[in-house]
This record gives sequence, C-alpha cells and structure tokens, in this order.
Amino acid sequence: MTENAATEADTETRDFIRDQIRSDLSSGATEQLVTRFPPEPNGYLHIGHAKSICLNFGVADEFGGRCNLRFDDTNPVKEEQEFIDTIQADVRWLGFEFGDNIRFASDYFEQLYDWAEYLIEQGCAYVDDLDAETLRAYRGTLTEAGRNSPFRDRPKAESLDLFRRMRAGEFADGAHVLRARIDMSSGNINLRDPVLYRILHAEHPRTGTTWCIYPTYDYAHGQSDAIEGVSHSLCTLEFADHRPLYDWLVDNLPVPTKPRQYEFSRLNLDHTVLSKRRLTALVRDGHVDGWDDPRMPTLSGLRRRGVPAAAVRDFISRLSINKSDGVVELAMFENSVREALNTGAERRMAVLDPLKVVIENYPEGEVEWLDAVNHPGDPEAGSRRIPFAREIYVEREDFMEDPPKKFFRLGPGREVRLRFAFFVTCREAITDESGRVVELRCTYDPETRGNVAPDGRKVKGTIHWVAADHAVDGEVRLYDTLFQSANPGAAGDPIKDLNPASLVSQTGCKLEPALAEVAAGQAVQFERIGYFAADLDSSPAKPVFNRVVTLRDGWAKAQAKS
Ligand code: ATP
Ligand code: MG
Repeated sequence: MTENAATEADTETRDFIRDQIRSDLSSGATEQLVTRFPPEPNGYLHIGHAKSICLNFGVADEFGGRCNLRFDDTNPVKEEQEFIDTIQADVRWLGFEFGDNIRFASDYFEQLYDWAEYLIEQGCAYVDDLDAETLRAYRGTLTEAGRNSPFRDRPKAESLDLFRRMRAGEFADGAHVLRARIDMSSGNINLRDPVLYRILHAEHPRTGTTWCIYPTYDYAHGQSDAIEGVSHSLCTLEFADHRPLYDWLVDNLPVPTKPRQYEFSRLNLDHTVLSKRRLTALVRDGHVDGWDDPRMPTLSGLRRRGVPAAAVRDFISRLSINKSDGVVELAMFENSVREALNTGAERRMAVLDPLKVVIENYPEGEVEWLDAVNHPGDPEAGSRRIPFAREIYVEREDFMEDPPKKFFRLGPGREVRLRFAFFVTCREAITDESGRVVELRCTYDPETRGNVAPDGRKVKGTIHWVAADHAVDGEVRLYDTLFQSANPGAAGDPIKDLNPASLVSQTGCKLEPALAEVAAGQAVQFERIGYFAADLDSSPAKPVFNRVVTLRDGWAKAQAKS
C-alpha cells in the first residue's frame, strides 16, 4: 500500500483524530486538549514511534493543548535508566519540547495501589492463587469461554489481606496476582478477569526496591491518563481490543477525569523491523553495532547516519492517520531525506575508489586554489577554495579502457570537464603486470579554467576529482537495507534474512581538505555520489563518513510515471 502524500503542507491537516478533537473542543466535551506519548523505557525509540510522537505533540501544538512525555515504567525487569535518558534526547532531537511535562507511571504507584484496594472493597477485584499456566488455561480461547477461578469468590477481606501481604513482600514471584472481576465468558478475552498486579521482586530504575508488586500496562495506563487529565489517549490499533477494559477501569474507579482512547494504525516500513523485541535481539546478539548503528531504524541510528530530524518529520507528515494497517515504502522515507538534504547539505568532492591521474603538461610543484560553490541552489552558502595540482585522483569507474560511445567520462583520447577546474584529455592508461589500470596520463587545457573553452568547444561529461597531495584519507561506510526481503518477518526469523552487504566499509577514500572539518552528524553531498554525514567515530585526522542516502531518486521517478 502506498500512503497518500499530503497535497499541501500548510493546509489544515485532517484525519479522524483531528476531526474528533475539533468536535470535542467545539462541543465543550473537552475543555483543554491533553495528550501523552507513553514509551516503555525498554529500548530506543524507532521511526514508528516518531509517528506517535508527531501526532501527540503535533495535535497538542495545533489545538493549544499540552502533551506529556510519560514513561510507562511498569515492568522493571526490562527497563533501564539508559533508555529513559535516550528517549528524552531522541524526542528533543525530533524537535519536540516537553519541558516540565515529563511524567512517570511509577510516580503513581501509591495512587494505583490505593485504587486497587478500592476495587477489592467494591468486589471488583480479587487475589488469585492460580499459577500462570493454570490461569492461562482457565482464560479460554477465542471460541471457548473462560472458567471462573476457584478463588474468584473468596471474601473481600481475604483478598485485601493477601494483597497487602503481596505488597509487604511475603510471597515469591508468581505466587499470587490481583485480578479484576469482570466476566470470564466475555467475547473479549481482555475482559476475562485480567491481571492488574503481579509480584516481581525486581529493582526498579526509579523506585528501587520500594515495590515488589507492579501494575500491568492495562491497569496503569488509563489511570495514569486520568491522573494527568489526558483527554485523548492516542495509541495504535493493537490496543483497540483493550479499550473496553480501559473504559471499565475508568468507570469503576474514582478517577479525577475520564480520558478516552483512540486507535490509529502503526507505521510499518518495508525492509525494516519496528518491534522493540526484534530490535533488542539485533543489538543483544551483535548483528548490529548497538542501538545507534546507522542501519537501525531507531531515531538514534538515523541521527548517527546523518538523517536530519526535519526529514523524519516531513516523512511522518505525509503518512495518513487512519485505521488501516499497511506497509510504507522505504523509498518514500528516503525521498524525504533526499529533499531535506538537497536544500540543507553543502557540496563537497570525495573520491571513493581512487585512480591516480598525472596531468603531464601541468607544472610540477605548482598548486592553484580554485573557487568551488558550496551549494548551487543557495548563493548564501558561499564558496570555498579547493587545490588543483599536477596529480589528482578521479573515481576508478569514471574511466574505461574501451568505452562505449555514450560513456561521457574518461577513456583513451576522451576529453572531460573536471568540476570547478579545467578540461582534461586522457592520453594513456598505465597498467601493472596484471593488466590493471593504475594511473592515467592526461593533459589539460589551461585556457579552460572555470570550465569555459574560449573556442566554444563542448564536452559532455563532468567528473569530480581531488588533488593528490592535499587529499585527506578517509573511511566511507556505504549502507544498504539491514534486511534483504521487503517483509523481513514474513518467512520466520528475520535474522535469517539479514543483508550481508548492509555495511560496506571503504577505506583509502580521497577527500577534499574541507571534509576533515565536518562535525559529527553534519551532512554534505559528495558531488555525483550521494549524501554523507560525518560519523561519531570521525576525527579531523581520520575522517569517517556514513552514506545517508544515494542521489538516485527512484521514488520520485516512479511517482512521476504512475
Ligand atoms: P513493540 O515494538 O514491542 O510493540 P512498542 O513500540 O509498542 O513496543 P511502546 O514504548 O509501548 O513500545 O510504544 C510507545 C507508543 O508508541 C505507544 O503508544 C505505541 O502505540 C506507539 N508506537 C509504537 N510503535 C509504533 C509504530 N510502529 N507506529 C506508530 N506508533 C507506534
Ligand atoms: Mg507497546
């Protein structure tokens, strides 16, 4: 499925969620719009989360509301401070400021506990002694009703006593759970007496060892929303079946406000996995070099690769917010990246696979500094000086010993334009014993400085180059998709589908001097090759560049054809 591109960026955005908000605000059903983005701190944020972030923070911004960044930190076994920190950094990087509006579900543990006792007192919850496996068996299936637990009708006082002792740490993990008393024969399995609390003797990143019972997502989420005055609780479609439980809890508890949940489709991208479970496995098993590996679809990975935050926001703004799950083409994302970089990135020259060229009629030892514009579309970006000398490097693939007619680059006797410099003509190719070309001997026409021939002769091709003595040696990391097939999970374990060529590291690249100064994360265009950004590992003495995206614009071409 292809998502519809927004026709006009500045027209009012319309989708079922914004329509709902508009109508709730105008009817007075909602006084102030409050949303939240509720990550569980058990991994890094990925580009799917960006959809939720842009939606939640976006609508708050558009409708004069507020959006909380709320950590859904209810499962200490998988949660870590590192994740809490990077999630905040990534939301900021994406361009959203939450200021004081940062919350933790763990801040509400005491309140949630009190409300759990309230449910017990109301006869709406009970402590169950069934072990996890039996409990699952009692729950039934989609086609078969569940069965009541033998503990379902134990006296309230007994449940209360057990629940207090659960909190006090008297029992081992799994010995008891607290369950809502709803309906074991409900068609919705989520309503078959769902678990509200479980015993977990685990240290929590924020509450330490204060608690050894923790609320489930279903219990904590809606109540946290109610405490924060969230008016519209926006989540992805997999929670639609949980909404009746969400409502049941809000209706049966003395919560201060009544939030409502709305579900939209999650973002899926081809050639990509966007499940934290799978991303965690990639990191844990060493298939990638950490959460911020530039091949990862995490926001940290995209940032490290050199993707501008504006490109992510632009991409997300083109997705539709609806209820139909689909898979978006990675090419569409790459197109947003290219567009952002085309305007933002300065041009530089780099030769990735160098072939030496000696310009025989250029004086030995002489250097001249030529003007090179930084951005053809932006005079404000100014220009820089690049050195030209007798020995230069060109791209190996820009030479052919026996070129076809339409190869407008170097070949024996062929003349080309060196970008920002002169016309050169290839006189001879020098080969080693194995027959491999190791050097080209060329001549240049000094009259063509600035690429204008006074006699008016034209050359078809322009190639990039770098002066040999001034070149900085660098490493360039060429990335391809991490997975080979469009739907990596379809045929079982996506690990089997890892692309062995997802990273090709090219060393000995020849970079123009200015490239040694590019700061980590900053992107430039290598003329004729693609967009590249300095990696975190980069230093002026040893520059390292990541390919952000190629210049090829398959998406726009395909769009134009269709
Ligand atoms: P998992 O990947 O294992 O399903 P998760 O990504 O849902 O975990 P959470 O931390 O619970 O992890 O997600 C926080 C919020 O981001 C949730 O509201 C969730 O609905 C939303 N979200 C997660 N993945 C996507 C996605 N691919 N597209 C849109 N929203 C998403
Ligand atoms: Mg989730």
